[in-house]
Amino acid sequence: MIELTLHGCNGGIGGAGRQTTCYGIGDRLIIDAGTGLTTLSLDQLEKIDHVVLTHAHLDHVACLPLMLDSVAGARATPVTVWASNEVITLLRTHLLNDHIWPDFTKIPSEDKPFMRFAAIDTEGVDIEGYFFKPLPASHGIPACGYLVSHQHNAIAFSGDSDDCAAFWKAITEVPLLNAVVVECSYPASMIDMADLSMHMHSTALIKRINALPLNVASIIVHRKPGLEQQIAAELRAGLGNRDLRLPEPGQRYLFG
Ligand SMILES: [Zn+2]
Ligand SMILES: [Zn+2]
Repeated sequence: MIELTLHGCNGGIGGAGRQTTCYGIGDRLIIDAGTGLTTLSLDQLEKIDHVVLTHAHLDHVACLPLMLDSVAGARATPVTVWASNEVITLLRTHLLNDHIWPDFTKIPSEDKPFMRFAAIDTEGVDIEGYFFKPLPASHGIPACGYLVSHQHNAIAFSGDSDDCAAFWKAITEVPLLNAVVVECSYPASMIDMADLSMHMHSTALIKRINALPLNVASIIVHRKPGLEQQIAAELRAGLGNRDLRLPEPGQRYLFG
């Protein structure tokens, strides 16, 4: 069984009901570290051993430095931050660089740090029994999605991406796919903005979801603030009676 909690699943902030990307897989692992992380208690934060990142945009990493600072004193082992080599380089250079925030890979010492980086290559990696395989994404900077498999279940995460044919091809080849967690930042009337910012829009997403097997649930995330209802109405109209889910922060799903 995979327990997925969408701590943050919005494309921006604005009130407690909007939190940026952070998904829990069980209690000890999160994908991305946006403001959704702020909805967890200190006890919950201290239990997180692994942070897996899709890319280095701020809405996906903003709360990572703050979380590390909050939990460091209470943990016996380092938090492992998993990402591609390119994303790790961006974080080392621009975020945990001893200017914007301390480099926690050297604090309190390089032998026993509060956090460590670990690279995920294209083959993927087993993290606590969950297999993470990077999936293609198209977002203008180093970025990926993930296929997360556990026992006989699998969930695909698009990360941030425009309409990436290679992502959809990869997931149609996955047997036992339970769900796709896919971004839809913009409605049909804002295709130009979607293309400019390399995000998905509802017109393209409807075509992609309608080509998936009927038993795959579609979980829509990263709707931009103020556009949520318009995007929801367009997807509902275009997807008939498919298993369409439009989560709010805190939503929990069990698969398997
Ligand atoms: Zn992004
Ligand atoms: Zn984003």
